[in-house]
Amino acid sequence: MISERAGKIKPSATLSIDSKAKEMKAMGVDVISFAVGEPDFDTPDNVKAAAVKALNDGFTKYTPVGGIPQLKDAIIEKLRRDNSLEYMRDEVVVSCGAKHSLYNVAQALYSPQDEVIVPAPYWVSYPDQVLLNDGIPVFIETGEDNKFLATPEAISEKITSRTKAIILNYPSNPTGFTYGRNNLEGIAELAVKHNLYVISDEIYEKLLYNGVKHVSIASLDPEIKKRTVVINGFSKAYAMTGWRLGYAAGPADVMKAVENIQSQSTSNPTSFAQKAAVEALEGPQEFIGRMLAEFDKRRKFLVSGLNAIDGVSCIMPEGAFYAFPNVKKYVGTGTGKWRIQGSSDMAMYLLEEAHVALVPGSAFGAEGYIRMSYATSMENLREGTSRIKEALSKLSR
Ligand code: PMP
Ligand code: GLU
Repeated sequence: MISERAGKIKPSATLSIDSKAKEMKAMGVDVISFAVGEPDFDTPDNVKAAAVKALNDGFTKYTPVGGIPQLKDAIIEKLRRDNSLEYMRDEVVVSCGAKHSLYNVAQALYSPQDEVIVPAPYWVSYPDQVLLNDGIPVFIETGEDNKFLATPEAISEKITSRTKAIILNYPSNPTGFTYGRNNLEGIAELAVKHNLYVISDEIYEKLLYNGVKHVSIASLDPEIKKRTVVINGFSKAYAMTGWRLGYAAGPADVMKAVENIQSQSTSNPTSFAQKAAVEALEGPQEFIGRMLAEFDKRRKFLVSGLNAIDGVSCIMPEGAFYAFPNVKKYVGTGTGKWRIQGSSDMAMYLLEEAHVALVPGSAFGAEGYIRMSYATSMENLREGTSRIKEALSKLSR
């Protein structure tokens, strides 16, 4: 019999829908996938070459648990340069992906019954990671009218004597919106006043359009920095999803606990991947601009394509590579054996009938929406939206 803890969680919806789409493809079905959030760009050559060099140099052994000093220093320099944040080596831990960093931090911070505030729509893994660590996720509903952002007032209403932390993700997966300085200042004030930790997942920071600037909540003042754990990684900015490397930076006592947890679970992240990550941070950065320009074109194309579909509306995201269209008008419709009672039925219907894979809003705590990743070709975006349009036109009340 599995543990009570394991019984509380479900598989990651993003990964399981992607697997289903890949399975269908392998069986010869022409599936277009907007399901998983990973850049369709290859890792830059200079980064790959650094890993090859590390392998050829025999850099194939265990490294220090929390990452090699050279990578920690490159991360410290990046946080200084991009985010105006100062950290020491004992305040940074490198793990096997930002997801792993987030998990380690959850292990390090939550005790049974601790409440963790999670604004919805949230990234799929936050609530389950809280549950796996015996905490209680407390959700805040947000709306399109406020770009799906949680206001300090809304957060304040959820704070109790058991609140331990707030998880923020900006730019957001799945909505693509980001917190500006004003909102962050209000949230920081609350966190300081109530002695809460802020887990600040900034993995999409480089993917912001129209010159929108990223501000890290930790950079606002020393008091909030003491309570913030910044999460970032290499998957999105450097198209390195398969390399499994991410990091956390925060107060030394929390990072020490994170390192201890890692030393008893996975040990160090892969040695030669760490060398590649040094090159990613220290080498030329033009790759990001090229990828961003391409994503920007696709963003506009997809959002205007979605808004041209009867009954669908989509506000223009300002970051990341997701569109989060509203499909509420289709709830309660159907055709043949299909009854669309929510976003999950909608995703299933589109997968089976239109061979388009996407993630239901329910996986992100936002019923009535679907998430589409536009980290895919223009051709797929064109064909995919046209399939969605046709499939939706068959639904009626
Ligand atoms: N946070 C968010 C918001 C994400 O979308 C992802 C993407 N998978 C991650 C963390 C984890 O990224 P990774 O583990 O690949 O570094
Ligand atoms: N973050 C990506 C997504 O949301 C990758 C999948 C995952 O890690 O869950 O699709």
